[in-house]
Amino acid sequence: MEEEVPLPEVNIGMVGHVDHGKTTLVYALTGVWADRHSEELKRGITIRLGYADATFRKCPMCNEPEAYTTERICPIHGVKTEILRTVSFVDAPGHEMLMATMLSGAALMDGAVLVIAANEKCPRPQTKEHLMALEIIGVDKIVIAQNKIDTVSKERVLENYREIKEFVKGTIAENAPIIPISAQQRINIDALIQAIEETIPTPERDLDSPPLMHIARSFDVNKPGTKPEDLVGGVVGGSLARGRLRVGDEIEIRPGIKDDRGNWQPLRTEVVSIMASGRYVEEATPGGLIGVATKLDPFLTKSDKLVGNVLGYPEHLPDVLSELTMEVKLLERVVGLEEDVEVEKIKMNEVLMLVVGTAVTVATVTSARDDIVEVKLKRPVCAEKGDRVAISRRVGGRWRLIGAGTIV
Ligand code: GDP
Ligand code: MG
Repeated sequence: MEEEVPLPEVNIGMVGHVDHGKTTLVYALTGVWADRHSEELKRGITIRLGYADATFRKCPMCNEPEAYTTERICPIHGVKTEILRTVSFVDAPGHEMLMATMLSGAALMDGAVLVIAANEKCPRPQTKEHLMALEIIGVDKIVIAQNKIDTVSKERVLENYREIKEFVKGTIAENAPIIPISAQQRINIDALIQAIEETIPTPERDLDSPPLMHIARSFDVNKPGTKPEDLVGGVVGGSLARGRLRVGDEIEIRPGIKDDRGNWQPLRTEVVSIMASGRYVEEATPGGLIGVATKLDPFLTKSDKLVGNVLGYPEHLPDVLSELTMEVKLLERVVGLEEDVEVEKIKMNEVLMLVVGTAVTVATVTSARDDIVEVKLKRPVCAEKGDRVAISRRVGGRWRLIGAGTIV
């Protein structure tokens, strides 16, 4: 009989420069090819959420790090391995990935694996950009996977190690362990699992407050041509930040949708079912991405329409803000460019892009004095005092990360 593994309790982001091996590493750890652009796998909810789960285990007879594995039976000793915990990996999608997608995904991360390929000079622009994003969102539990060591000499591995050390100096990843691996050849995956176990603990969760979930995906699961009487309601996906969500709960989704008059209307509905880690559960708690089926018209949830909304109990959600005041800390240099460009002060009337939770919105600056900036939002957000805001500005035709804000 298939052994029942625990549900995921922690979300770990897989970040780093394109082609450095993020998707390959998620595959090596979970056996799931989580690339959302892969046609073949597009159907399952798991893939649409862009995540894959792994249950980490330990052989009672092996030494460390060999003892760390995802195998149920130790390949060396033939004995059953002990379950440590189940983790959910959130894979940052590849090429056309916008920083906004990565930043809104970072809202769900409890920690991250920064993948850096040893065969390229460190840092590549996206490596820098992603590390800065983690810093801005406040994700400080980081493991560095120095990947593709099978493609380079030992000398190059050591030289690249020094490049990485130099690069992370003075950042939140300064003391992050650096584990040399080959995701493709599955070398040192055991040591990587050990580093994740030791560096990215499961955070203490607030289970007593009313539930709050940031919506990261939303979709219509009905096949085209389904008869009206067979249609199932809209599905939203995300991860609980706090509380417990149960089947049958009355819920609200904010800010909701824009009505004919241009006003935002929250949506009220009910939890019909909850899918976690490929199985139906009666109750979900923080950790792991979940799919929540509702009674909403699937038209409303189609094609990620509700991404950026917040789900919870009516009367227990943060306010919907169409303008906000934040305390801003700008970076010294614009991130993501090959060349160094200094970050200029935020100016009155300038247009910025903000990411708050999983919400992405354009904002116009209405007041800028020292580090206090007021903005008017194009799309309102459901957020509260103390929430982090990632701030980007258009530089050279693309949104570039320039700083962090805290809602005051
Ligand atoms: P991503 O863009 O970061 O998700 O990178 P992918 O996982 O898609 O990998 C990019 C390419 O690098 C693919 O062709 C992989 O097969 C290859 N690759 C990934 N990891 C390794 C590795 O450890 N060794 C070698 N030789 N190739 C790798
Ligand atoms: Mg990828």
